Amino acid sequence: MNICPEHLRIEHIYKSYPFQSGAQKRLAILEDISLEVADGEFVSLIGPSGCGKSTLFNLVSGLEEPDRGNMFLKGREITGERGHVGYMMQKDLLLPWRNVLDNCILAMEIQQIPRKKATLSALAMLEEMGLAEYAHHYPGQLSGGMRQRVSFVRTMLAGREILLLDEPFGALDAFTKSEMHEWLAGSFSKYRPTVLFITHDIEEALLLSDRIYVLSARPSKIKQQIKVEERLPRSREVLTQEKFIAFKKILLKELFSK
Ligand code: ADP
Ligand code: MG
Repeated sequence: MNICPEHLRIEHIYKSYPFQSGAQKRLAILEDISLEVADGEFVSLIGPSGCGKSTLFNLVSGLEEPDRGNMFLKGREITGERGHVGYMMQKDLLLPWRNVLDNCILAMEIQQIPRKKATLSALAMLEEMGLAEYAHHYPGQLSGGMRQRVSFVRTMLAGREILLLDEPFGALDAFTKSEMHEWLAGSFSKYRPTVLFITHDIEEALLLSDRIYVLSARPSKIKQQIKVEERLPRSREVLTQEKFIAFKKILLKELFSK
């Protein structure tokens, strides 16, 4: 029987890679990572570059296997299995030869959902997310922010039970990023998807998350956990509140201390 309220549970995950030199020794990346994400919760992972955040996503998505440890989705073990998560990778590119609509139905096409049905749900989601007028545009005709929105819709349309979003705003300028936060927070508050989100931006994590895990440098462990109780969606003004300034201090300290 499923007795855990968590949607996703990661238990004691270890991951290492062989050294490039081909030596017998291995480089430890993740060391005893345990975390959980509740149904409808938005959880961020923040940590120094190269600490193993993307590696963790590759493990959760089943693209790679951990050395040790287990992962559960709704109480069922999924360690090493693919097909359970909607994964938006760090360099998640839209196919330039497909228009927005055809990019959005890609995952459904792979799942062999009939084209008509896939098209209807993609158009409905594009409409909901304020992108209907771009359905027949090609990625090359869109701004960076718009392409990113389409990538989100594509990931959401994969119909998975949890979304893994790997630094989706990393390459955007500050203004576009801010617009994206507003757009994302607004649309997610309608859908309440369960999200695990990687960022290196402290303010972004504080604006979007219910909870934040701070990872240490490699070999990565969980150093700290912060629960941000302020209701979502939040506007940037919350960042000037005392509570948020205090959170920012804690996160900065954790990120830059050994
Ligand atoms: P982050 O996303 O936190 O910046 P990554 O998970 O991409 O970090 O990488 C963590 C470490 O693992 C890096 O040192 C990287 O070079 C190494 N690494 C990642 N993937 C592989 C791989 N397939 N083989 C060997 N080393 C890898
Ligand atoms: Mg990464």
